[in-house]
Amino acid sequence: MSTQSTQPKPVQKESSGGAFYAGRGVTKTPMISHAKGIFFWDTDGKRYLDGSSGAVAANIGHGNERVCDAMIEQAKRFSYVVRTAFTSEATETLCRMISELAGPGFDQTFLVSGGSEAIESTLKLARQYAVVTGQPKRSKILARIPGYHGSTLGAAAVTGDPDRDQMFGPIMRVMPKIPAPLSYRLPEGYDLHSYADHCADELERQILAEGEDTVLAFIMEPVGGVATGALVAPNSYYSKVRKICDRYGVLLIFDEVMCGAGRTGTFLAAHHWPDALPDLVACAKGLSAGYTPLGAMIAPNRIVDKVVESGGFLHGHTYSGNPLSSAIGVAVLSELVNQNLMGNAQRMGVILRQKLNALKDRSTTIGDVRGIGLLNAVEIVEDKATKAIFPAARQASYRVSEIARDLGLHIYSRRAAGGKFGEWFMAAPPLIITEPEIDLYMELLTETFRIFESEIR
Ligand code: PLP
Repeated sequence: MSTQSTQPKPVQKESSGGAFYAGRGVTKTPMISHAKGIFFWDTDGKRYLDGSSGAVAANIGHGNERVCDAMIEQAKRFSYVVRTAFTSEATETLCRMISELAGPGFDQTFLVSGGSEAIESTLKLARQYAVVTGQPKRSKILARIPGYHGSTLGAAAVTGDPDRDQMFGPIMRVMPKIPAPLSYRLPEGYDLHSYADHCADELERQILAEGEDTVLAFIMEPVGGVATGALVAPNSYYSKVRKICDRYGVLLIFDEVMCGAGRTGTFLAAHHWPDALPDLVACAKGLSAGYTPLGAMIAPNRIVDKVVESGGFLHGHTYSGNPLSSAIGVAVLSELVNQNLMGNAQRMGVILRQKLNALKDRSTTIGDVRGIGLLNAVEIVEDKATKAIFPAARQASYRVSEIARDLGLHIYSRRAAGGKFGEWFMAAPPLIITEPEIDLYMELLTETFRIFESEIR
């Protein structure tokens, strides 16, 4: 006899406690019923404007019919074959599209299921390349602090966050870090350019300190994500970093998990600095725009061929090159190109930053607005004159996102590395956003800060 009740269960309105998720998050987790364009709705019918594209992933907006159709069509044909033995038209098409959009020198694409896996792929390909080309001593991967490269152990080892190093250091090999060229709080005696120059010099100093023949790669986010709040360095930083890597035979890896796939107005953020292109790129989020888990490593023939000739890349996953995810990726990138969403990201990014800067001028707690295209961050401070951050107990960035959520605006916030480097939220709506929708976004944000600032007075 079945022990299951025949009574229908009541519809859940929020998370029940049977599921858990990373970070502190907001106090209650609304249950989402459906989504369309830049909006989603919860099971009570409340509408939210997706002001950060989820975790800066939903680049083409929600409920895109063409993507849904492509998903269903592929699912009906077949959803899975093992990539080491078979391929699919969708997988081949997606790899070709990514390599073409990435441009000359980015010949090969290795598909995975997300950002951390894409990062792991770049680290392992770099290492295997070094070994098969007779440089087995090269094993150190330099990275920046602050920085974020993912949650798996290899990605965590290059993530610049002292709290994570302390927690997980004993079960991984924490890699050496150099300072990221933060632009808002500059050390005494530096301006924006001289500090960025100093940070690039730190790369050379660290390579020499480690022993130049032991350094395998340098990994960085060309436009920062949550760890730095959309940090963009002066142009000279990128070319200097590229030259230093070349001087010492160190591979340059760009983490474009968040900033890639059109988010900054170009397919790769690297395209903003064509004289400083990286050797390897990790990409994810916007590749599938949240319609399925998907990530990619993009690599040149000169590296891949050596590794393949040596007997094959010692790396892979059950879902590498998954046909269903690939078909979704093809449909998402087709939208990105056919709807000229990169052009829209450039245009709307300029308008959004103008409006955010106007709000900053009126606000007592917005210290900085920065970014490129539709990858922007708004830094929250206790004191604009001193740039002092709020004490941890205030939980300012969480509170701001909580107020926003109650008003019907989703914003993704972060107190980076326990507040050592500041706190902000990502102003990164879907790339389909229109100017009237930006006005609505600004109305909700203005009200959010009005409430927040009245609470702390
Ligand atoms: N790298 C960057 C810059 C990211 O922003 C993220 C995720 O936010 C990752 C890597 C990890 O990606 P995932 O969460 O898909 O594993």
